[in-house]
Amino acid sequence: AGALLTATALRKTYGSTSALDGAHFSINPGEIVAVMGPSGSGKSTLLHCLAGIVTPDEGTVHYRGHELSAMSDAERSALRRGDFGFVFQFGQLVPELTCVENVALPLRLTGVDRRSAEAKAVEWMERLEVDTVRHKRPGQVSGGQGQRVAIARALVASPRVLFADEPTGALDSLNGERVMELLTEAARETRAAVVLVTHESRVAAYSDREVVVRDGKARDLAGMAGAA
Ligand code: ADP
Ligand code: ADP
Repeated sequence: AGALLTATALRKTYGSTSALDGAHFSINPGEIVAVMGPSGSGKSTLLHCLAGIVTPDEGTVHYRGHELSAMSDAERSALRRGDFGFVFQFGQLVPELTCVENVALPLRLTGVDRRSAEAKAVEWMERLEVDTVRHKRPGQVSGGQGQRVAIARALVASPRVLFADEPTGALDSLNGERVMELLTEAARETRAAVVLVTHESRVAAYSDREVVVRDGKARDLAGMAGAA
C-alpha cells in the first residue's frame, strides 16, 4: 500500500528481441528512483510501460490503484497530460515556439489562458535559471539551457510523476550535474515522484534509491524488502 506506480512481471518483446522479461518496479509519492543498467537492458521500455506509452505483452502497471491497460486511450492520454511529465535526452522542444511558449504549452493545452500560463512558465524558468532565454527559440540556446527549459515544461503543470530518460545524456558533466541539482530540487518542492533512467552512477547519485535492470529484468530491491 502507498505506492504511486507499480509494475508487476512485465514482459515485452520486439520481434525476436526480449526488451523486458519479468520486470518489477514500484515508486512511492515524491520518491526519486534511478533506473540503472547497461544500454539495451530495457530501461527505456520499462519507462515507456510505466508511462502508458508502450503496452506490455504480459504483466500489469497500476497507477494509484488503476490498471493502465484497463483504461481507454483517451483516459491514458489524459493521465499523461495531467499527472505525468516527461524529459528526454534531447529536450524535444517545439522549434517554432519561443522557450517561454514551450514551457507554457502544457498549461495552454489544459485551457489556461496565455497570460497566466506564461506567467507561471516564467516562474519555472526562473527556478531553473533559464528565464534569460525566454524569448529565444530552442535552436538559439545551449544544450544545458535547452534541458532546463524542457524540465521547466515537464514540471509547470505540477505532475505527480516526472519521467526522465537520460536527461543529462547529451550534456557535459558540469552542465549535467547542475541540471540534476535543479531537477531534483524542483521535484522535491513539488513533491513529484521521479523515474530517472540513466546508465551513469553520478546521475543516479541524486536519487533516493536505485533499481538495476539487467536483460529486461528489473530488480526493485526496496520493493522486495517491502513485500517480505
Ligand atoms: P535501454 O533503455 O536500457 O537502452 P531499451 O528499453 O531501449 O533499453 O531496449 C531494450 C531492447 O529492446 C534493446 O535490444 C532494443 O533494441 C529493443 N527495443 C526497444 N524498443 C524497441 C522498438 N520499438 N522496436 C524494436 N526493438 C526495440
Ligand atoms: P535509449 O538509449 O534512451 O534507450 P534508444 O535510442 O535506444 O534510446 O531508443 C529511442 C527510441 O527508439 C525509443 O522509443 C525506443 O523504444 C526505440 N527503439 C530502441 N531500439 C529500437 C530498435 N531496435 N528498433 C526500433 N526502435 C527502437
